[in-house]
Amino acid sequence: MRPPVSFEFFPPNTTEGEARLRGVHQRLAQAKPEYFSVTYGAGGATRDKTLRTVLEIVAAGSKVAPHLSCIGATRESVDELLALYRSQGIRKLVALRGDLPSGMVDTGDFRFAVDLVRHIRATTGDWFGIAVAAYPEVHPQASSAQADLEALVAKVGAGADTAITQYFYNVDAFLWFRDAAVAAGVCAPIVPGIMPIGNYRQLTRFSDACGAEIPRWIRQRLAQYGEDLQAIRAFGHEVVAAQCRRLVAEGVDALHFYTMNQAEPTLELLAASGG
Ligand SMILES: Cc1cc2nc3c(=O)[nH]c(=O)nc-3n(C[C@H](O)[C@H](O)[C@H](O)COP(=O)(O)OP(=O)(O)OC[C@H]3O[C@@H](n4cnc5c(N)ncnc54)[C@H](O)[C@@H]3O)c2cc1C
Repeated sequence: MRPPVSFEFFPPNTTEGEARLRGVHQRLAQAKPEYFSVTYGAGGATRDKTLRTVLEIVAAGSKVAPHLSCIGATRESVDELLALYRSQGIRKLVALRGDLPSGMVDTGDFRFAVDLVRHIRATTGDWFGIAVAAYPEVHPQASSAQADLEALVAKVGAGADTAITQYFYNVDAFLWFRDAAVAAGVCAPIVPGIMPIGNYRQLTRFSDACGAEIPRWIRQRLAQYGEDLQAIRAFGHEVVAAQCRRLVAEGVDALHFYTMNQAEPTLELLAASGG
């Protein structure tokens, strides 16, 4: 049986994008996700847009987990958002450090995501479920794989109750990481982040920036399709659907989809992985 799913959106930049996302939300809501999450630009870059998207989804009757990136933020600005989300009945957050936007030097009141998790628990108790980020292929700035795992242990120790991973295409890396996390005492579910493959250039740009590896055999095949988007999508679908099926067979607690604000690729993957 298909495990629970969640769907991630980014806040649109234009009114056309907002209108499109309403339709995407409606379609994806039919798959009955546990929640939708909405990203938040570090340094408060998307604060108002994230808020608008979050409130729209709440008004449309779905559960939402707003992302909250703390780098460059003050305690006051975080508290203001927490109070607002609480007043809207929101019960789940994705707590992140984020990356300081270029040109910004002040790291603000929180240095690492663990500081944000601690602050949310200290000020709001058990009101929010807190998800944090995890990196099966190691965060690009981590001093070592072990240090990165310890950062996850610290976030869970500070009160996070779920970890959502960076996307990956190497299922063994995820399984190895999950085992290592359990051995290190992480009892929170580690939910794999699933990135549909639809645009080769965009995917390589993201992957280079966030340290997610696209295995050579996938890169080579995607490169050979050139501008043939249909062929890229068909191949990408096969690869990611097989990944989802394997993860489900390995007993993952849930799947988190980076939807890129599109319904179709995620719905097709759900259909191909049992539901
Ligand atoms: C599921 C998911 C959702 C995301 N959503 C967003 C989003 O909405 N907005 C956004 O801007 N970004 C988002 N990101 C990206 C994320 O913000 C970046 O990867 C960022 O660089 C790290 O954030 P973090 O919360 O993992 O940070 P942290 O957990 O603080 O880790 C950051 C780095 O510091 C190291 N570290 C942690 N603690 C310590 C310590 N005490 N001493 C020394 N080193 C330490 C870690 O090993 C890691 O290398 C998301 C990532 C994921 C996986």
